[in-house]
Amino acid sequence: MTAPLLSVRSASVSFGAFRALTDVSFDVDAGELVALIGPNGAGKTTLLNVLSGEIAPQTGSVQFDGETITGEAPHDIVARGLARTFQAAEPFQNLSVRENVMVGGVARHRMGLLSSMIGRGTAVLDHGRLRREGDEHLAAVGLADLADQPASILTAGQRRLLSIARVLASGARMLVLDEPGAGLNDREKRALGDIILSLSRAGKTILFIDHDMPLVSRLARRILVLDQGCIIADGEPADVRRNPRVLDAYLGR
Ligand code: ADP
Repeated sequence: MTAPLLSVRSASVSFGAFRALTDVSFDVDAGELVALIGPNGAGKTTLLNVLSGEIAPQTGSVQFDGETITGEAPHDIVARGLARTFQAAEPFQNLSVRENVMVGGVARHRMGLLSSMIGRGTAVLDHGRLRREGDEHLAAVGLADLADQPASILTAGQRRLLSIARVLASGARMLVLDEPGAGLNDREKRALGDIILSLSRAGKTILFIDHDMPLVSRLARRILVLDQGCIIADGEPADVRRNPRVLDAYLGR
């Protein structure tokens, strides 16, 4: 058996006297496509913040690719290949759509710049390569036609797709998507679903938050359910939908 790509062990987070996460443990294997659901205030965003290094858990640990990343800075976690989108991510309005994605790629190529400065490797910041890669990532999220447009003209749905392209540009193997479908209409949600499935088929490991059960069930083979800071279910969509604790905590309210 291979080790999981992501492993969260007994992670707990408190804000003052309030416990936002209590002993959260789960693994995600490389290549999995997992949905994270739960009622408002369940702790989903807090959990994403723990994964991406915005919040250090008071107890417990997070391992990625066999290494402990608990307490590491967000940019170091991105450099390891675990990157997320933010719900309210705003693009750089004055840059083109393509340039916004190229910015996401700079962080990765800076590693190459560093290694060339210390005499290892030959990579320097290559504008042409960043641009070509930016176009590939835009094509992957269906925004290729808008590459030269200013980001300011994008709709809310297109901004969410752009934030996924930026995460791809970071070179991430695991994508953590914070409500990528929020505020999208049905047509945009279908397109988003197709994009997430194609990224999954291309080998990306994906964990995403969404509230839309039809979308979640269409995409995910596995659903994690958080309620009041605890994982109350973890399994296939059909089982999770029938789980009495889930019905009580989430769907029945
Ligand atoms: P979800 O994303 O599932 O809606 P959150 O993780 O945003 O839930 O929040 C979980 C709980 O923790 C909520 O009750 C929220 O009010 C609380 N919380 C989140 N962040 C903070 C914070 N920085 N300070 C105090 N309480 C917080």
